[in-house]
Amino acid sequence: MKYIKLLLIGLVLFCCTNIYSQPLQNQTKDQFINQLMSKMTLKEKLGQLNLPVISGDVVSGISQNTGVVAKISEGLVGGLFNIKGVDKIKAVQKLAVESSRLKIPLIIGMDVIHGYETEFPIPLGLSASWDMALIKKTAEIAAKEASADGISWTYSPMVDISRDPRWGRVAEGSGEDPYLGSLIAKAMVEGYQGNLQNPNQIMSCVKHFALYGASESGLDYNTTDMSEQRMYNEYFPPYLAAVNAGAGSVMASFNDINGIPATANKWLLTDVLRGQWHFKGFVVSDYTGVSELQNHGMGDAARCGELALNAGVDMDMVSEIFVNNGEQLLKEKKISLETINQACKRILEAKYDLGLFHNPYKYCDETRRNKDIFTPEHRAFARAAAAQTFVLLKNDRNTLPLKPNTTIAVIGPLANNKVNMPGTWSVACKHDASIAVLDGLKQVMGTSNNFLYALGCNIFETELMENRVTPFGKTFNRDNRPTEQILNEALEIAAKSDVILFVGGESAEMSGESSSRSELNLPAIQQETLKKLKSLGKPIVLVLFTGRPLTLAWENQNLDAILNVWFPGTEAGLAIADVLSGQVNPSGKLTMTFPRNVGQIPIYYAHKNTGRPLTGKWFQKFQANYLDIENSPLFPFGYGLSYAQFEYGEPVLSTAILTPQNKIVVKIPVKNNSNYDGYETVQLYIHQKYRSITPAVKELKDFQKVWIKKGETKMVEFELTEQQLRFYNQQLKLVSEAGTGEIMIGSNSEQVKRIPFEFKK
Ligand code: BGC
Repeated sequence: MKYIKLLLIGLVLFCCTNIYSQPLQNQTKDQFINQLMSKMTLKEKLGQLNLPVISGDVVSGISQNTGVVAKISEGLVGGLFNIKGVDKIKAVQKLAVESSRLKIPLIIGMDVIHGYETEFPIPLGLSASWDMALIKKTAEIAAKEASADGISWTYSPMVDISRDPRWGRVAEGSGEDPYLGSLIAKAMVEGYQGNLQNPNQIMSCVKHFALYGASESGLDYNTTDMSEQRMYNEYFPPYLAAVNAGAGSVMASFNDINGIPATANKWLLTDVLRGQWHFKGFVVSDYTGVSELQNHGMGDAARCGELALNAGVDMDMVSEIFVNNGEQLLKEKKISLETINQACKRILEAKYDLGLFHNPYKYCDETRRNKDIFTPEHRAFARAAAAQTFVLLKNDRNTLPLKPNTTIAVIGPLANNKVNMPGTWSVACKHDASIAVLDGLKQVMGTSNNFLYALGCNIFETELMENRVTPFGKTFNRDNRPTEQILNEALEIAAKSDVILFVGGESAEMSGESSSRSELNLPAIQQETLKKLKSLGKPIVLVLFTGRPLTLAWENQNLDAILNVWFPGTEAGLAIADVLSGQVNPSGKLTMTFPRNVGQIPIYYAHKNTGRPLTGKWFQKFQANYLDIENSPLFPFGYGLSYAQFEYGEPVLSTAILTPQNKIVVKIPVKNNSNYDGYETVQLYIHQKYRSITPAVKELKDFQKVWIKKGETKMVEFELTEQQLRFYNQQLKLVSEAGTGEIMIGSNSEQVKRIPFEFKK
């Protein structure tokens, strides 16, 4: 009898707990979550706000290293991140839903930034495609692969506008322009999330909110200080676009904003994000962002937890301050129960939206691993996508494409390297499976060309610098022979060749987090090697790897062709060969200005005119110019050559008068005057002459990437409406103002055809 009673009690308990972890039929999300929360202790609620770090191998390792296993069982963990492998993730999920009291599943995050095992080009590279469908598809594939391996949440897109290439994290973003950045933010959120009921889609986390890309002097994690007008007009739009596209979460940034770090910034995280933008998801801090408030000078750990929670951070990444201090803070009335409830509810809602309450193992289907990850289809798409991101910076005398039946000397530290091909933030990538440039060239062009290879030089002359730029196993197998011996081998093969292909630039981790640079040249040893090669008098092509704009004045002046390939991802070698051979015509356009030298930074196309603009030739005394360098950049925003030649005709307007009711239709003929079919990205900028807030000299408002066959002329058509003239005025109201201006259309931000218009209200 006693046993039957016990069995019955057990059964009742089992059923009850199941009710809490699994929504009943006909139960709304709200009902389910409210009911679940009514059963939660304060500590369990705080547990949902906790996103601890794990070190070592999961389950066996974490129990030894950080006690996370015990915490999961006690309901003190809301999620985990950067664990790779569905088996490991299933094991931790099992712990959460079998050994914790309320069986609440974990949300499992990862930095799936530009692909999963199939790695696509770095985001700055992807942005140079100006192709939203392509970018969206990369996010979709990344979500499919990540979800097949247990991941339900990605810390992407990174949408921080930046005009400072010293900041290494420009590699992770979409460049300097708020309009283009907003379109990309939207495309990526839609690509990741689509319909979250679908097991192939995951939740996105837009980051880093906000202004992280404006850190002073390009120094990572540094302070930002900015007018609100500038924030709203130039830096906020991509975050807002991601929120409007339905991003499920937002990550607070590390940086100080006008004296209050973002993580403690109530104005930012609550007034703007929730009050003005109506964001309904949850906010997570960045890695140790809450405890770093101590270093910012905001108070001790408990005080920092209080500030962050009250500002609007819902989940605490790594610091574990919320879970450790929450009860005490509540007791002292520093935070309210309502704040804790609200944060907990938002996190439970995200889990609900991901379908984790209906099936905690939704992302743990082991059968998917073999069929959905690193598939031939995904790799083929990665190859095609990468080729769309390359920017041809120079191509004198049609040096490219490479001619068949020639001997080509392939030289340089990145010519025969696999692990650096995917670039920074490639957490899940199969680095060893990446295609090296030399292998790709041989595979694509091996029958028509003869390739000779020599290293030429190490990535850096010294081991010290090389060690700094090769973390995470992204090595170069340094060649320790004397520099001269390595160089001589290269000179020998170059002498026997028709063309020299120098494959160099930055290593993968020379850009990305904590990779600020004060100089943006090619490492000296690489430039010296190029100088020696140049003395042979053969044509030299630089295949440039970089995660940021570099200063390339010497290279531009002395080399015959420069193809900027960023970091192209796993299929790098093949995509590069596709373009070098002419099978694919390059069409990428820069989304960040390339300066002439570091002193010009910050440099960006949408700058203000000043009261003393340089109107004539450089140099003029008492005008806004430098004594020692031109104002113009080396390569402007929007710039990129093609193997084709595109000629722009004269733009024609349907009417020169715009009103709130009508629109202007702008047509411009673009002729492909060459023997290559190709894509051209036709860009439309506007400028208003007078405004209550000083206007930029031009602002991108629209563009079209069009395929134009050789000899063909395409009439490219745009529509300009009142909406595109809107900006935030001094009162931070979104307005448009009447007045005259110019519409500019062209192939980059400098080479434009201008036509006047007037906006009447
Ligand atoms: C980075 C974030 C990233 C997080 C988690 C931080 O250091 O700033 O971008 O998502 O780590 O890995």
